[in-house]
Formats: sequence, C-alpha cells, structure tokens
Amino acid sequence: MAEAGTAGVLTVDLAAIAANWTTLRDRHAALGGGAVGAAVKADAYGLGAAEVVPALAAAGCRHFFVAHAVEGAAVRAALGPGPLVAVLNGFHPGADGGAGLTPVLNTPGDIAAWAGTGAAVLLHLDTGMARLGLSPAEIEALAADPAPLTGLDLLYVMTHLACADEPDHPMNAAQAARFAAARARLPAAPSSFANSAGLFLGPAFASDLARPGCALYGLNPTPGRPNPMRPVVRLEVPVLQVREIPAGTPVGYGATWTAARPSRIATVAAGYADGYLRALSGHALARHAGQDIPLVGRVSMDLITFDVTDHPLITPGSMLELIGDAQTADDVAARAGTIGYEVLTSLGARYARRYRRAA
Ligand SMILES: *Cc1c(COP(=O)(O)O)cnc(C)c1O
Repeated sequence: MAEAGTAGVLTVDLAAIAANWTTLRDRHAALGGGAVGAAVKADAYGLGAAEVVPALAAAGCRHFFVAHAVEGAAVRAALGPGPLVAVLNGFHPGADGGAGLTPVLNTPGDIAAWAGTGAAVLLHLDTGMARLGLSPAEIEALAADPAPLTGLDLLYVMTHLACADEPDHPMNAAQAARFAAARARLPAAPSSFANSAGLFLGPAFASDLARPGCALYGLNPTPGRPNPMRPVVRLEVPVLQVREIPAGTPVGYGATWTAARPSRIATVAAGYADGYLRALSGHALARHAGQDIPLVGRVSMDLITFDVTDHPLITPGSMLELIGDAQTADDVAARAGTIGYEVLTSLGARYARRYRRAA
C-alpha cells in the first residue's frame, strides 16, 4: 500500500553494503593488497552517509573518502573519532572545523600550505586524468627536491584510474606504470590506487589502500559482465490515480504519446525533482508483480505516467518498483543514457527512506 504523503519509498540494504565491503576487502587481499576503504562522498552516493558510514565501520572499514570538508564533518559526526576521513578536494589548515579530517594534497600550493604543520596528509599524483593531483612536471620537481614534504606525515601517495571500467583500455597499464615510477622517485610512503572497477583489473592495481565506492552501493564494477555485488537499493512509488482514456488521447507535457487503443493510465508520484531523470521520458519501465510496465509520455517534475492497460490489478495505492533486483540502477541509467552513479546521486530528498540492517 502507498504511504500517504510520500513520493515513494527508498529502501537501502545496509547489510548488503556491509557484505559488499567484505567481498571487496577479501578480493583486495587475494590480489596481494592491503586495506580497503570506502568512498562516501556525495552523501554516500545519495544513499545517506549518516546511515551508511556506521554500517561500513561496523563491518571493519577504517578509511573513508569524501570530496568536500563539509561532507567530511558529517562523516566524522556519524563515525566518531579514530578512522581516517580523507578529503579528496583538499582544504586549508584549520578549515575542517575541528572534525579531524585529513587533507589530500593536490597541488604544490597545497603542499606549501601544509608544509611544516606535521599534519597527516595524502598526496595525489595525476597519472592520466588531467584533473586533480600533481602533474607529471610537478611530480618531477618534487622528486628532484622533496624538501617541501619534510615535516608532513605522508600517510598515502594516491592516484586515480581514468578507464578502470574498460579492462582492456591501455590507460590502465600506463597509469600503473606511471604510478610505480613516480612512487619510486618520491619519499617512501604507502600507496592508494584502485577504485571499485580497479579491484577487478588484477594484482598490478592492488595497493596499501583501495578506495571503492560504487560497488559498495551495488553498482556493477565489471560493466558487461555479471554483477558480483549484492543489490542495495529498492525504489517503489505509489500510484495516485488510474485514468481510463479513449484511443487518440494524448498523455503528458508536449503530448508526446497518444493512446493507440482505449487505455488505462496510472499516474505515479515521482518525477525529475526526485531524480527520476527526464531523459527517461518515453523509454523507461516500472516493475509490478514480475511484469514490465511501460512509461508513456514525458517525465514531469513530480509525476510520471505508465500504460497499465494490460495490468488490471494495478489500482490507486499500488506500488510500482522503479529500481530493484529486476531493474537495477545500472539498468535505469542505461535507459537514460547515463551511468548508475548519476542515478544514485540524483535520488531525491522526498522519498521515505528505510534502512535495512543485518538480521
Ligand atoms: C569517487 C572516487 C573513488 C571511488 O570510485 P568508484 O568508481 O565509485 O569505486 C575512488 N577514488 C577517487 C579519487 C574518487 O574520486
């Protein structure tokens, strides 16, 4: 039954997240790697860091990665003192509000800002993304004169893979080689390398600390192959009303879909403001009682419409599943022309969120 006043119910399986972390920990160990942390940026990929972080910590995770210091403060509040909370985008000394966050140093300016503070830091080397981290020339300069690093507690030297989701891409081996060469020329420090997909590339991508994100949340780290992770997210939305329309009746904004036969149209309480991407207009599915239900017309801000002519049991109050075991966030993303990461991080604030814990 629908819950009055909600746009839908988002169920997050914390036990599955913990099991996925354990799977990745064991996988990294089998590759000869060390610890496995968790990327929990963007509110744990939209699933709720306040719930996800304690579940990961209870499973044994001791290293957490966020993008911004404000996210890090929220993670620290959920976690308590102790585990590493590293801020990928960096922050200036004192700018963590006393939350005990660890900066990732991405530029010579970052190194200079932290030099001599004695702080524990991570150092990010760019080995092929031209995004964050020391450039090849900056790595050369630091190798020639590592003095700026003295007085810093270098916890990890890290780099990030550009093409890990394409196992045969030559960038993967090239980045592994550049990372090894750069590390050999810099002061000795532990390494941090693989993201989720990187953990499925082989032992050359093992390190002292892996940083998976998406696979923890059930996305497939091996695109094109069976998903080795447990599903985590289920999204169900209520049918608000069912309308009987004659053939020839248009449905929704732009009148982009017109009934070819007498039809039953179910109007459902979710839209692009809830992260149900407008790009899904005209080519998405819901699931109900093991069957596919086609979306018709455009996705509106707060409403979507489904053709339930062939599904007489769907009535007001029925719940349609938009994401679940039969249609994963990766599947929805493919229909929208995007990636599962965008589907998860777009999930809106209007869903009632339920967290399933270990039994
Ligand atoms: C987001 C991120 C990760 C995690 O990536 P996934 O593909 O979600 O596993 C790891 N490292 C860095 C630097 C990141 O930005």
